[in-house]
Parts: sequence; C-alpha cells; structure tokens
Amino acid sequence: MPVDAASVRSTFFGTSSIHVTDGVTGILVDGFFTRPSLLRIALGRPIAPDPGRISDALSRGGVEHLDALFVAHSHHDHVMDSPEVVKRVGGVLHGSESTVNVGRGTGLGDESMRRISDGDTYVFGNFTVRVLEGVHSPGDRYPGRIDEPLVPPVKASAYRTGGCYSFLFEHPTGTMLVHPSANFVPDKFDGLDVDLLYLGVGALGAQSARFQNDYWRHTVEAIRPGLIIPVHWDHFGRSLDKKPRPMPRVLDDFAKTRELLDRKSAESGIPVRFQRPYETITPFS
Ligand SMILES: [Zn+2]
Repeated sequence: MPVDAASVRSTFFGTSSIHVTDGVTGILVDGFFTRPSLLRIALGRPIAPDPGRISDALSRGGVEHLDALFVAHSHHDHVMDSPEVVKRVGGVLHGSESTVNVGRGTGLGDESMRRISDGDTYVFGNFTVRVLEGVHSPGDRYPGRIDEPLVPPVKASAYRTGGCYSFLFEHPTGTMLVHPSANFVPDKFDGLDVDLLYLGVGALGAQSARFQNDYWRHTVEAIRPGLIIPVHWDHFGRSLDKKPRPMPRVLDDFAKTRELLDRKSAESGIPVRFQRPYETITPFS
C-alpha cells in the first residue's frame, strides 16, 4: 500500500523543539517546554523542569506516544525537559554523553537512553534518522561537557553543550533536516537531498555579514531545500502560552535576521516561512 504523504505531520514548540509523526511513529527533537525566564537565568538562580508546562505542551501539541527523542545539545533550552518527556510518553532519549547525564540525573535508566555519534543511523517505523555532528553557534555561553548525573534544580550554566548535532529525517514520502544551531561545518551538508530544512537562526542577526553569507552557503546553498522554516528565533524565556516574540535584543538582532532571510529567499527562489508554536504542518504533501 502506498504511504500517504499527508500522514507526516510536524508540530513546532518554539526554539528547536519539533514533533514529527506519520500517525504510527513519533519522534521529538529537543524536549524544552519549561522556558524559565531569562532574568532568572541572568541572576544565576536555579532552574528545573516545570511539570505543568510539560503536560500542557504535550497535550496541546497532541504528543501521546514517542518512539525516540533526539537532543541537539545539552544547553537547557534543548535538553532540559527531555528526560521528563520520555518518562511521560515513552521513547528512547538520544544524545551526547552530556545529555545521557541529564537523563541519569532525572532517574532515567540506561535502557531508555542511547549515546549518539556523527553518522549514526537509526530506524523507527518508516522513519530513518541520521545524526550529523556540527558546532554550536558562535558565542557558546556554557561550553564543555556534563560529566556527572545532573540533578535539577541547577543553574543554567550547569547545562553544558556536550556534542552538537543536526538530524536528517528520511521517510518514504519526503526528507527533512533539523539544524538547530546557527553554525556550520564546511561541506558537511553537500549532496543532501532535503525537502524541508528547519534552519537554526539563533543569534544569526548579531553575526557579521561574512559569517551570515558563509552560513547560508554551507547550509541552504549546499542542500537547496524545497522550503526553509527558521527555528530558534523566539524569546525562549517566555511561556509558550503567550504570543511569541523574537529573542531579546541583548542576544540577537531579529530584524537583521528577517532582512537576511527575505533577501536570500528572493535571490535563491527558495521559500521561507515561519511556523507558529503549536502549528502543525504536513511538510511532504
Ligand atoms: Zn545552545
């Protein structure tokens, strides 16, 4: 029986949290729903997963069951709620050793976690997920690794980067690349055939024109996707219940990012559209 392209649905939850399902298999990238205030983080106060916000996000986003959860890197805005999500809706937590240590600190057993490396390929139902290691966007605030089980509440600075990954999703009906962090490894994406590119743009507006051009060349131009959806543009210290706002000016210059996206989209002919939090799309139909 042919697989229906419209069966694949993708829901955005802010930052780079994205749920992909074909109705049978469910995969989440970056379980992050607590979104603690940036003031709290700036003051160095401890943060911890918020059970209410996690439940609300999962139910509003229709995430009832997971096969796998992939974590891009272990800063709080990517990894923080991921072990709690696995506890609630199942699935295996996939990430660096640092991410595994966040899982251990929340009481996840080793049978619920898998350490990933560059080039690994995993199969879940009709999906294949390939891991592509990359580098964090310039100005990594909390570099290094998490070497011991991390038990919240902890300061945001305890969530150290670990490895940094992008994820290529292949399905019989289409292909998408989730690229959360706005940086690149030259030529890494050459030859990838991708219908939808979730393109990380966090802090891109604050980078030099030269960096922006190089970034575009080694991501979008290398891949030439059918569609670009920017991610990690939103103010990640605001609840998902509130109207989304771009990242605050101290961290990014979103107006410049928009200008760049508009210009590059017009030049390349590749459409750029934004996905609202909780909006579900059918990317392959
Ligand atoms: Zn980060």
